Amino acid sequence: MTAAIRLKGLEKTYAGGKRALNGVDLAIPRGSMFALLGPNGAGKSTLINILAGLVRKTGGSAEIWGFDIDQHPRNAKASIGVVPQELLFDAFFTPFETLELQAGLYGVPPEKRRSMELLEKVRLDDKAHVYTRTLSGGMKRRLLIAKAMVHNPPVLILDEPTAGVDIELRQMLWAYVRELHAGGTTVVLTTHYLEEAEELCDRIAIVNHGRIVIDTDKDNLLSQAQDKRVEVTLDHDLQQPPEIAGATRVTLLDSRRLDILYDKQTVKAGAILARLQEAGHPVVDVTTREADLEDVFLDLTGTPLEAAKG
Ligand code: ADP
Repeated sequence: MTAAIRLKGLEKTYAGGKRALNGVDLAIPRGSMFALLGPNGAGKSTLINILAGLVRKTGGSAEIWGFDIDQHPRNAKASIGVVPQELLFDAFFTPFETLELQAGLYGVPPEKRRSMELLEKVRLDDKAHVYTRTLSGGMKRRLLIAKAMVHNPPVLILDEPTAGVDIELRQMLWAYVRELHAGGTTVVLTTHYLEEAEELCDRIAIVNHGRIVIDTDKDNLLSQAQDKRVEVTLDHDLQQPPEIAGATRVTLLDSRRLDILYDKQTVKAGAILARLQEAGHPVVDVTTREADLEDVFLDLTGTPLEAAKG
């Protein structure tokens, strides 16, 4: 079956010479709820902006719903709705007018417009006729989603939908996105929140330095989290992490605390602690936990989540 979005060798080098996309190959299945996950600066927005027609690619090809963006730009454009990161509106239009105007831009005839229905869906019907500038940030974000859907595209792309959004609104946006997905819309979102990808999506691609480093089912990605983690506090300061046989990675958290990752199939936490003791590093405190998606992310990108959250 044709993919919802298919990228082949997609490249972008910005005018200043910055290479943001380094040959991206990706097929996003129709009907999926897909996360493009990656640290800040990975190239996610560049990729989205190429699909949205806002940035010109410098190499490779992109297809949306089977339409090549160079050969069939109008059909390609009609096949996606994009919810940008920035909350930019013409402050002197009302939400209703904003949607009508957008529908006009997309050539939706008046009898086929669904502006009120869309406003109800994002719970803005009671604000239909106020100035957009009086809306809260959360309301503006909901209006942007409605705006992206005026032409009823089969693919909806959300660029960092919940960046800087409070928990309550995040839940509400997720509920609405799930509803769209259940109604048959293919949903693609970019995020640097693992939780968002994990909670919402069935497939996850991780982007780093302008490349796809993994593209897989969420469950498969989670099952890669085979390692286990132990955090120990020593009775003295260290300058650098010690070598520990059997450990996959040892990181110094501060001068006395070590974060140790090990494969739980081949070694036990007790053995790790015994080896530390033998090497002259008595342990005064220990906690262990299963590794999670965060660790998989770190292993694949070399960027800890804390840094990735920027
Ligand atoms: P992400 O969305 O994953 O945070 P971006 O696509 O915004 O990543 O950025 C990828 C890289 O391209 C970054 O190094 C960024 O600084 C650079 N970049 C983005 N937009 C521009 C631009 N208009 N001109 C030059 N460099 C840019």
